[in-house]
Amino acid sequence: MLNLIIFGPPGAGKGTQAILLAKKYKLTHLSSGDLLRQELKNGELGKKIKGYQDAGKLVPDSIIIKMMENAVAKNIKGKGFIFDGYPRNPRQAKHLDKFLKGNRLNINAVFNLKLSQEEAAKRIILRGKTSGRSDDNLKTINNRYKVYRKQTAPLLEYYKAQKKVINIDGRPEIKLISKEINTSITKLK
Ligand code: AMP
Repeated sequence: MLNLIIFGPPGAGKGTQAILLAKKYKLTHLSSGDLLRQELKNGELGKKIKGYQDAGKLVPDSIIIKMMENAVAKNIKGKGFIFDGYPRNPRQAKHLDKFLKGNRLNINAVFNLKLSQEEAAKRIILRGKTSGRSDDNLKTINNRYKVYRKQTAPLLEYYKAQKKVINIDGRPEIKLISKEINTSITKLK
């Protein structure tokens, strides 16, 4: 099994690369943001989720951790996972490690897509024109970036300690980034 995390600030291109990886290695693509958006029509829970997303804040761990564990359990017999947007804080990472370990699995690599806040914001604004996402606007983006720096970026230290972080320049065109990631995968032990 190949279990990967695609990491980086909002707008870095995680979703795009996750889709390509899922296709190439037949992995299950688990995007926490997409899974949450699928719940938006779900009454009270949907309302709660939308509130956090529109504010650019993280949805509480009590909601997201269960959601992701269920999604992993459902696809445990597959070829592996590409986690996109998850984990987003140390607590989620520890839960994920524990859950995978319980199934005799582990994370093989964390691809850290590096992109400046300015570049990422530009991309999100552009995406906002077609995505229909209510959180793809300048005000929410700034908050999402703050949350990334405060709560999510520290996770890099957690995975560096496990020697799993592979830094990738997020600026080039999609194909070049994908090629670099694929080359790194062939070198994984
Ligand atoms: P994304 O599609 O990954 O940009 O996520 C959009 C929004 O969904 C985030 O700004 C959060 O409100 C929420 N979200 C996505 N993934 C997580 C997560 N792992 N933990 C908490 N909230 C999340």
